[in-house]
Amino acid sequence: MGVKVAKFGGTSLADAAQVRKVEAIIRADPARRFVVPSAPGKRTSDDRKITDLLYLCHASAAQQVPFDETWKLISDRYLQIAADLKIKLDMRPHLDEVKKKIAAEGARAGGTADYAASRGEYLNSLIVAELLGYEFIDAAEVIFFDARGLFDAERTQQALSARLAKSTRAVVPGFYGTDHAGRVKTFSRGGSDITGAIVARAAFAEVYENWTDVSGLLMADPRIVKNPRPIDVVTYRELRELAYMGATVLHDEAIFPVRIAGIPVNIRNTNRPDDKGTMIVANTAPIAHTGSITGIAGRKDFTVITVEKALMNQEVGFGRRMLSVLEVNGISFEHMPSGIDTMSVVVADKAIEGRLDKVLDELRAECKPDAIDVEPHMALVATVGRGMASTPGMAARLFGALAAAQVNVRMIDQGSSEINIIVGVGTKDFENAMRAVYEAFVK
Ligand code: ASP
Repeated sequence: MGVKVAKFGGTSLADAAQVRKVEAIIRADPARRFVVPSAPGKRTSDDRKITDLLYLCHASAAQQVPFDETWKLISDRYLQIAADLKIKLDMRPHLDEVKKKIAAEGARAGGTADYAASRGEYLNSLIVAELLGYEFIDAAEVIFFDARGLFDAERTQQALSARLAKSTRAVVPGFYGTDHAGRVKTFSRGGSDITGAIVARAAFAEVYENWTDVSGLLMADPRIVKNPRPIDVVTYRELRELAYMGATVLHDEAIFPVRIAGIPVNIRNTNRPDDKGTMIVANTAPIAHTGSITGIAGRKDFTVITVEKALMNQEVGFGRRMLSVLEVNGISFEHMPSGIDTMSVVVADKAIEGRLDKVLDELRAECKPDAIDVEPHMALVATVGRGMASTPGMAARLFGALAAAQVNVRMIDQGSSEINIIVGVGTKDFENAMRAVYEAFVK
């Protein structure tokens, strides 16, 4: 039987009722042998996340200020969950120990917040392991960072896969590991997703299930497009394009360990366990039907600088000179559409803020252009889908829809991989453009 690794986010474990849902999900499929919990998240929109409270405790401890009030919120939360679940494990000694160590780490010269922050996952995992009757494996013993503070993939893979091979069913807390000096170190915020991916890789899992509070990715931003359809299958490459353009749910960087190993990720909804969610798979996945798209995403606040010069195509080194101006000014560019006698760079407004005039002066000096045009306030809309490659008529449909919606297209960039077409439109046309494209391909 294959192994499934199931990671649960903070809202999936915010209180005992949520933890019961998690229990039901785990018990429904014996392949779900390894579980990675987050810390308890918000129960309502104005609630506090346990991780945030733990950071506060550390900040007080670092200033030698008592943090009993904040701590009470944390300990009450765990005691309540444990009591509601009627588990036998007494959480009090664990809570006392953690509180003492947070105070000690705060008082230590050079002490970090990582120990405190990591305890949200640690304590929650003790509860989940007890409830399920699964073994508890402390992430500090199996997940490692190197001397530079970077995740040590090789050492972790070895230690963790050896450890998991000895276990039939286990809970591994998300978000942290151990640094080269033996201290607890966390990933960046939201890092339990990474732990889940690391455990999936080490367990040679058939799938990494990432359980959250939405039924996967949607084809478009629901604040712009009404009731967008969920995405059934998306490839890693498409996800990267969509995530870059602003679609969130799961950080594409968070899943690199399973991407390397070719393990699919399934984003699922703890509150709607029957929904299939979104599958994130390798780049070769078949498509539902030719001509279909996977999703639409977009971002605002770009500036496009276009340099025009007759016979540019015959001038050796023109592109290099143009880009070197950006480079010496420390500005990264996002896209670079070009024509025979024009070359444009698309930069984020915040990257060029306060430096536009200097850049333009230097471009004039370096490239001796016939003209330079600056288009501020641009928005980019990316239509993404592996189903677009080599399908005639996709671009016609896209531009037809934009024209019908009276959207003026000011820039076009088709990635050479043919999995996306990006159009630049005025910021005021952004929402309109997204809706027009969605309707052209989905309705
Ligand atoms: N609890 C941590 C955070 O709030 C990690 C996670 O939930 O993934 O960032």
